[in-house]
Amino acid sequence: MQAAARPGLGLRTDGLALAEGEVARRLRAWGLRRVRVPLHAARPDAHDWLVDLPGAARRVLRALRACAAAGLEVQVEAAVTRPTMDLLPETVAAAAGLGATEVHLRLPAPAPDDRVAVFPRLGLAEPLLERADRAARAAGVALWVHGLPACALGAARDRMAPPEPILGPPSLLPPAPQVATCAACPGAPACPGAPAAYVALFGRGELDDRCSRPVPGRQMPDGEGPPGTPPPPRAGRAPATRLAFAVGQAARGALRGDPLAGVPGDPIPPSLTASFPPQAPTRALRQELCRLSQVGSPVLRIADDHSLLHPDIGDLLRECVRLGFSRVEVAGPVDRLLALEDRDLVALRGLSRVEAWVAGEEEQAGVEEGLSRVARLSRAEVVVRVVGAG
Ligand code: SF4
Repeated sequence: MQAAARPGLGLRTDGLALAEGEVARRLRAWGLRRVRVPLHAARPDAHDWLVDLPGAARRVLRALRACAAAGLEVQVEAAVTRPTMDLLPETVAAAAGLGATEVHLRLPAPAPDDRVAVFPRLGLAEPLLERADRAARAAGVALWVHGLPACALGAARDRMAPPEPILGPPSLLPPAPQVATCAACPGAPACPGAPAAYVALFGRGELDDRCSRPVPGRQMPDGEGPPGTPPPPRAGRAPATRLAFAVGQAARGALRGDPLAGVPGDPIPPSLTASFPPQAPTRALRQELCRLSQVGSPVLRIADDHSLLHPDIGDLLRECVRLGFSRVEVAGPVDRLLALEDRDLVALRGLSRVEAWVAGEEEQAGVEEGLSRVARLSRAEVVVRVVGAG
């Protein structure tokens, strides 16, 4: 049973027992005023798959009709899930057609193994929630959204439901635990916060996506330059995640290869620094190099006492010179660099400068021959710097 936010007794039920009209009539006669029944999709196969019960949807549909006919106030609850979110607008319209006065959309809390299959991607769900909102307004049905972040609702943001008083068993769809706070939040204080399990699985990209939420009212220029101009660098602009943004960009045309055309970037720093901790896996280091190459800085510097000693320094530097930087400069102890094969040094053409750190004149004399081989094969400028012992 649900506490009465309004006068009268309400019942939250899966609805299967109400498919016989006589049950609904008796409950109404005993004083029940309203029922809330889950109908996750108006298409029977989708609802049945979600509740894992063949035939459930048809019984729920009969129950909803029976309850409305018995004079009960009918509310419908639908989980917002990946497989059913496309159907949200028609589910809301169908609920209205069955006599529902309220539709409650709720983010479920799937078991860990089911999260990828069940969680809706928030950036894709936004336009569907907006369409569901429009369907509800057109049908005169009250729509409430539970557990979804405000920043994922778009124009349906004012449909965010207040906390519900529950006396008895909780909702058939348990609420998804939320992360309490979000830095730089555009939606507080009404928002319940980001769904914790969702963030753990997919990250915060869609929640913190400033690229999909450009400043309201700002004029979005077309892509830069004439056709054939290379797209501008990311300059801190993360890929947009909102379907609505992508549709809007596609409608503008003339993006000239830049899906984020019109989104202002951060100032581009004159140089960037990378570091290769010796134990770090090369996959993570390559990912970081790719990220740095998208910023748009012309110069990449690697200058510390450990990066050039990474066991895969040859492969990592080859990656650096392929990433489109105008200059790649390295500095540090060069023992591993000098140990590279000739062909590995040839592959480093594009390396601009190597600064070899040595402890003193004796070590300097020991590396000179190797450094001249590095300079000859990689064509990098090579200098030696005495940094002192230790
Ligand atoms: S950033 Fe966090 S608190 Fe703010 S609206 Fe989004 S989910 Fe809610």
